Amino acid sequence: MKKVIVIGGGITGLSAAYMLQKAVESGKQVDYLLVEKDNRLGGKIWTEEIDGYIVEGGPDCFLSDKPGCFDMARDTGIEERIIPSNDASKRTYVFADKKLNRLPDGLMGLVPTKLVPFAVSPLISWPGKIRMAMDLFIPKKQTDEDETLGSFVKRRLGKEALDKIAEPLIGGIHAGDPDKMSLKATFPRFIQMEQNYGSLLKAMLAGRRKMPQAKPLEPGKPKKTFFMTFIGGMGELTDTMASKLDSKKVHTGKAVTHIEKKTDGGYVVHIDGMGPVAADAVILTAPAHEAAKVVTDIDKTMSENLAEIPQATSATVNLAFRRSDINKTIDAFGFIVPISEGRKIKAGTYSSTKWDYRTPDDDHVLIRAFVGGAMNQELVFLNDEEMLKMVLDELKDIIGLTAAPVMHKIFRWVKGMPQYTIGHLDRVADIEARTAGTPGFYVAGGSYRGVGVPDCINVGKKAATDALAYLSK
Ligand SMILES: Cc1cc2nc3c(=O)[nH]c(=O)nc-3n(C[C@H](O)[C@H](O)[C@H](O)COP(=O)(O)OP(=O)(O)OC[C@H]3O[C@@H](n4cnc5c(N)ncnc54)[C@H](O)[C@@H]3O)c2cc1C
Repeated sequence: MKKVIVIGGGITGLSAAYMLQKAVESGKQVDYLLVEKDNRLGGKIWTEEIDGYIVEGGPDCFLSDKPGCFDMARDTGIEERIIPSNDASKRTYVFADKKLNRLPDGLMGLVPTKLVPFAVSPLISWPGKIRMAMDLFIPKKQTDEDETLGSFVKRRLGKEALDKIAEPLIGGIHAGDPDKMSLKATFPRFIQMEQNYGSLLKAMLAGRRKMPQAKPLEPGKPKKTFFMTFIGGMGELTDTMASKLDSKKVHTGKAVTHIEKKTDGGYVVHIDGMGPVAADAVILTAPAHEAAKVVTDIDKTMSENLAEIPQATSATVNLAFRRSDINKTIDAFGFIVPISEGRKIKAGTYSSTKWDYRTPDDDHVLIRAFVGGAMNQELVFLNDEEMLKMVLDELKDIIGLTAAPVMHKIFRWVKGMPQYTIGHLDRVADIEARTAGTPGFYVAGGSYRGVGVPDCINVGKKAATDALAYLSK
C-alpha cells in the first residue's frame, strides 16, 4: 500500500489529510500519516472557550468571496454553523492625529467610492484628499517590474493615504511593512486596476457600476457578509476536520527532523520520538522557515529559498470586560492604529460587537488587541504581566477604556506571519520548480501563495490530489 506523510497539522495539512482520508474511504489503496509537532492540531487556527468566551488566538474569520471554507464546511457537515458579521455595526476607526476618526463609508480597500463621506471625513487632511484625487491624472506605470505596496500607494494616492489607510488597514492583514511588501504577491488586483483603468478611483467606480445587486437571502442560509466565521470560532472548522480523520493515522507532539530521499524514488521521514518512517509521497505544510530545516538533505537550494521567506512575529491579546464597567461605546468592529502614531498596539477588534456568540451573556464584552507585526516585534516578548499592562495602557489612551478585564488570554505567534516581500513570487516559483523536479514531494501552506484560510484549504487539497495522482501512475 502506498503511503503519504503529511507534515504539519494546520489548516493546510488538515485539508491534505482530509482528502487522503476520503480517498481511503472511497477504497483507494493508499495510507497516510499526519505528523504535527505541537500537542494540538489546527496550527494558527486556535480557538479556546474560556468561561463561556470564544477566544481566538489566530484568525477570527475568513473571506467569503473565496469558496475554500464554505466547501470544507459543507463537506464536513458544519455549513449551518457559519455566521455573518454584525454589519449593522460595520464601522472601523483609525487612531490618527491622537484621536479616533471614523474610516469613511464607501472606502473599498484603499479607494473612496463615496464622495460625501470621504470629503467630510477629518481622517485625511484637505491637501491629502487633493493628493488622493490626483490618482485620476497620474499616468499608469509603464514597466512590469514589481514594487512595494508602500511605493505604489505613495505614487498613486500620496503619503497620507499610505500612512493613515493603506499601512494600518491593508498592511495589517499581513502584519507587514508596506515598504517591503511585494505588490504583485499581496495585492495583484491593484496592479490590474491601474493597468486596466489608468486610475484606482476610476477602476473602483467602474467596478461599483458593474456590481450585481445583492441577492435576496435564501431562507435558512446565513446572510453573506465580507468576512464570516463559525458559531464556535474558527477552531470549529479544524476540530471538525480533525474528527473526520482516522485517529490512528494522526500523531501530535511529534516533530519531523529531516527528510531523506531514497534512491528508488521514495522518502524516509525522520520523526522525533517515532524514528524513521518510509513514505512514497510527502506533503510538507510546515511554515517556510521550519520547512527549510527539514529539506536540507533533499535539496539545499530549496532549503535556502524557503529560509529566505521572512516571518513576522506578533501576539493577540483577548480581554473580556463587564459591559457596565466600560465607559466607552464599542458599537463598531474596532480600530486600527497607523505606525506613524508611534503606539504599541496595531489594532483592536471589538469581537463581541463584530460577531454573535462570543461572550457568555450580553453583560460582557470581548476585545482583541494586536501587538507586534513587521515593526514592533520585540513587544511580543514582554512577559504576560507586562504585556497585559501595556495593552491596557494603550486601550486607555486610544479608546479611553479604564476598566479591569475579567478574563484575558495572550497568544504569541513567533515567526507566525509570512512576509511576501519583493522577490517573493520568484522565490516561490523557484521552490515550486524544485519540488516539481522531486517527484512525490509537495510543499504547501500559507507561506507561499496566499495567507488566507480559504487559500490554505485549496493548496492543501491540491497537494493531496497531486500526490494521489502521482501514486496512481
Ligand atoms: C494572528 C493571526 C491572525 C490571522 N488572521 C487571519 C484571518 O482572520 N483570516 C485568515 O484567513 N487568515 C488569517 N491569518 C492567517 C492564517 O491563519 C494562516 O495563513 C493559516 O492558518 C496558515 O495555515 P498553515 O496550515 O499553512 O500553517 P500553520 O497553521 O502554521 O500550520 C503549520 C503546522 O506545521 C507544524 N510544524 C512546523 N514544523 C513542523 C515539523 N518539523 N514537524 C511537524 N510539524 C511541524 C506547526 O506546528 C503547525 O501546526 C492569521 C494569522 C495569524 C498569525
